[in-house]
Amino acid sequence: MKNIIFIAPPAAGKGTQSEMLKEKYGYVHISTGDLLREAITSGTEFGLVVKNIIDSGNLVDDCTMINLIEESIEKVKGKPFILDGFPRTLTQAKALDTLLTDNAINYVVIYLNLNYQTAKERILGRLTCICGKSYNIYDEKLIPKKENTCDYCGKKLIKRDDDNEASFEIRYKSFIENNEPILKYYKELNNLIYIDVNKNIKDIFNDIIEVVIND
Ligand code: AMP
Repeated sequence: MKNIIFIAPPAAGKGTQSEMLKEKYGYVHISTGDLLREAITSGTEFGLVVKNIIDSGNLVDDCTMINLIEESIEKVKGKPFILDGFPRTLTQAKALDTLLTDNAINYVVIYLNLNYQTAKERILGRLTCICGKSYNIYDEKLIPKKENTCDYCGKKLIKRDDDNEASFEIRYKSFIENNEPILKYYKELNNLIYIDVNKNIKDIFNDIIEVVIND
């Protein structure tokens, strides 16, 4: 099994696919966004500093993020992992390659391709549950059966503070700007796979499995 780095615009389905890989193959899902939100919820000094940055849709600085990812990879020792939300800049990509290569850890970069309009609809309609399930009020296949309530565990659904139009525009623009050099970098390393995400969740999952398990 290969370790996975997901690169994708906001709401391309990284979280959903990561959950499925976790359930079926025991991958550890490392989401830098989730780690930062946990720090905010637990009210640490670090959390207070990053809250304003995240709410505005900007990126947390590279040095902080590289330290965070080093600690996280150290913790999962031996288990297959998925990086979701890292790297977001070329500096992060290079630091990560050095870290993984030095520790003889294999990886494949999977780019989930999604256009602007679809990304926007997914973000503005997205609701999530603390149990990991995701919903979308603008997609009839993903609307929760009972308003604002998780179909699986019955908990109240959450709308992320940064899932608003202003923040989406900044995040999407930042993704496009930062993405180009990262993709070029991984192409040169011959370690980049494109996956089309304009199809159903199970087909996307099968395409990913083909790359990371069967390949
Ligand atoms: P996400 O949940 O991946 O959409 O991340 C939410 C927010 O956390 C982003 O909009 C950034 O503000 C911050 N963030 C997450 N990962 C990174 C990263 N690798 N580099 C910089 N900022 C990050």
